[in-house]
Amino acid sequence: MRRKLVAGNWKMHGSLAENERLLDGVLAGMPGVKAEVAVCVPYPYLAQAQARLDGSALVWGAQNLSQHGKGAFTGEVSAAMLRDFGCKYVIVGHSERRALYGETDEIVAEKFVAAQAAGLIPILCVGETLGERESGVTERVIARQLDAVVAKSGVGALADAVLAYEPVWAIGTGKTASPEQAQDVHAFIRGKLAALDPSVAEALVIQYGGSVKANNAAELFAQPDIDGGLIGGASLAADEFLAVCRAA
Ligand code: PEP
Repeated sequence: MRRKLVAGNWKMHGSLAENERLLDGVLAGMPGVKAEVAVCVPYPYLAQAQARLDGSALVWGAQNLSQHGKGAFTGEVSAAMLRDFGCKYVIVGHSERRALYGETDEIVAEKFVAAQAAGLIPILCVGETLGERESGVTERVIARQLDAVVAKSGVGALADAVLAYEPVWAIGTGKTASPEQAQDVHAFIRGKLAALDPSVAEALVIQYGGSVKANNAAELFAQPDIDGGLIGGASLAADEFLAVCRAA
């Protein structure tokens, strides 16, 4: 049995006061949760997450990082800085970063390398747009996104990483991939990696993300190749997020 991981992606939401309430609420419900649970918070709130969560049942992480180690990169944040604030995970290649901030497969692969070099576990996001799905190129797109990382890091690096399949058309739209649609892509990913390294592929945690809510989480997480979720909107309310976590 693979472990299950549920990670909340708060995106650009929160305030010191709101976060305090949300973290308190999630922590209160953690005794009923078997899966590992992470919250990926905006950079300014990493210190708050560390202070509140250190030694607790929740781990924390960030939503992005620089591919560079240090230097003249105004506004950027390095992997070592994230480690300074106790991050365990960092989301890499979220579709919003790819679409809105020009992150290419190559840049995403560099960020993946930078994260691992600092001892962070990257949550590598892959997924197709609606147009790509409708044109029948879903697998080709995901293969290209994965190949860029495997080419730079080697398949063995995935032993210290998490994948998240996030169909772009399902993120924040209220449209969820059906359990069968998601399972098909998860099985494709695992099969593709198994051709390179069966044991890495078998152990790899592959999360599903895209409008996961309390009312659809259980059937998604029941699929054999879905090992938890990357949760956006539903991670912003403690009760809803805890229900998703309990479903894993
Ligand atoms: C996400 O932020 O990665 C995500 C899947 O968002 P949502 O759950 O809101 O669709």
